[in-house]
Amino acid sequence: MGIKAQPGVMDIALYKGGKSHVDGVENVLKLSSNENPFGPSVAAKEALVRASHTLHRYPSTDHAGLRAAIGDVWGLDPERIICGNGSGEVLMMIAQAFAGKGDEVLFTEHGFAMYPIYANANGAKPVVVSERERVVDVDALLAACTKKTKVVYIANPANPTGTMIGEADMERLADGLPDGAILVLDGAYAEYVGGYDAGKSLVESRNNVIMTRTFSKIYGLGGLRIGYGYANQEIIDMLMRIRGPFNLSAPALAAAEAAMRDVAHTEKCRTDNAKQRDWMAGALAELGLPSDTSTANFILVRFASEDEAMACNDHLMTQGILVRLVAGYGLPNCLRITVGDEASCRRVVHAIGQFKGTKKDLDA
Ligand SMILES: *Cc1c(COP(=O)(O)O)cnc(C)c1O
Repeated sequence: MGIKAQPGVMDIALYKGGKSHVDGVENVLKLSSNENPFGPSVAAKEALVRASHTLHRYPSTDHAGLRAAIGDVWGLDPERIICGNGSGEVLMMIAQAFAGKGDEVLFTEHGFAMYPIYANANGAKPVVVSERERVVDVDALLAACTKKTKVVYIANPANPTGTMIGEADMERLADGLPDGAILVLDGAYAEYVGGYDAGKSLVESRNNVIMTRTFSKIYGLGGLRIGYGYANQEIIDMLMRIRGPFNLSAPALAAAEAAMRDVAHTEKCRTDNAKQRDWMAGALAELGLPSDTSTANFILVRFASEDEAMACNDHLMTQGILVRLVAGYGLPNCLRITVGDEASCRRVVHAIGQFKGTKKDLDA
């Protein structure tokens, strides 16, 4: 066949999502994709149903209603917001607009698996930078920058580590980038961090920063695909040119707008998550399984070895519990466990306790 993909395309390894079923097991508990155990707000579901009556109409192309809602709730300028089909689409548009052949796209060692895909899909070179003890290392990132660096992706909090860097580090990173490089602050989990502005002030005080947010995590709307980016006007104007005019469906826009305005639901999800997460991390630590302090809706549990992590994963599967293997993220001795509701957290801790008990018996 004479048809060839563009350079980089065949270097992309297909993304593997979290598992969602176990053969022969009913009542599966899915803690593998960082989904909100409470689901979306009731208001969002009602808006979705209402939108079903006008499905013959094309959706809004300017997303004005949703951008206004986001602006009201987070104090952002709606003119500087771009909405995407999941934040993934915004992250991809950034690479499309700013990185191509001969350019470099930076991200860190345990960074989100989609970042190299965005680079390769656009013919740019993915550059992996080391972290320091599972935390983004600003010095290492700055040291890795060259004249070819065009995009730097970091998630804050990061997935799958759950760790964060502080305001001063983010500022140092933004200010230290070479001319022509853009810092992308992926804020997929930002709403879980009380009092964190997700990079808003950095965006508003610099012209080389874009933050992205999603409705897939705390808003419980992963199935609908909605996200957004926030940057200065010129950057948004560049991205708008490559955005598809109907990239968000009308039901998605309606549900997202209602979800955004239901701040009580968001707040309930945030506080419950923090409570269950801290309980689960503490209970697992007591079982001899440490994790870094997480600011997100999952914890990265460390085992003594890759074998132990795999064995625990196998045991959880027999109990119908799905967690995320993260060997592909360079963390073979870890499991990433999404914070569920109280009953789910108890169920997974109980099962891991069983596993540790069994293992102790075998060791004895
Ligand atoms: C889940 C996640 C996203 C969200 O992607 P969507 O396309 O908005 O569903 C983005 N970045 C990271 C690091 C994530 O973990």
